[in-house]
Amino acid sequence: MAIKTILTEPNQLLRQVSRPVEKVSQEIQNLMDDMLDTMYSANGIGLAAIQIGVPKRIIVIDIGKDKEKKEPQYFVNPIIKNTNSILSTYEEGCLSVPNQFAEIDRPSKCEVEYLDYNGEKKLLKAEGLLATCIQHEMDHLEGILFIDYLSKLKKSMIIKKLSKNKSNRIVV
Ligand code: ZN
Repeated sequence: MAIKTILTEPNQLLRQVSRPVEKVSQEIQNLMDDMLDTMYSANGIGLAAIQIGVPKRIIVIDIGKDKEKKEPQYFVNPIIKNTNSILSTYEEGCLSVPNQFAEIDRPSKCEVEYLDYNGEKKLLKAEGLLATCIQHEMDHLEGILFIDYLSKLKKSMIIKKLSKNKSNRIVV
């Protein structure tokens, strides 16, 4: 298991549409292990493979409140089958959009079909934080970031800020 570098906006890779996984092989399981390690070390509750530069349709999530007790969930090739029309609002952040937060409305429930860590087909009815988290991560698979839901002005301000931070970054 290894901790990978998380890509941050602006980065064209984050805008790429991820491709389906053909088979949940050992290699894919290793990738999911790395994703989880990376997510935990960054104190995130969700991560998509593209955030570490791998354009595959895989997300990992752990919304467990108890930091000691890990409750990872793995979603390979997730497809949202159903959402309800009632929206809920969370203040969202993203490991790829560091230190920026905004209130985003999303369907408060969703039904998602996916393959689990062992490649078994599963159907999950999610609500609350989990539903929002799944939808946020699945957006990454389409190259969408939460800031895309904001006004043009707000979004460009955030990207400007992030670009500035990047240009100040040095590696010695
Ligand atoms: Zn994100």
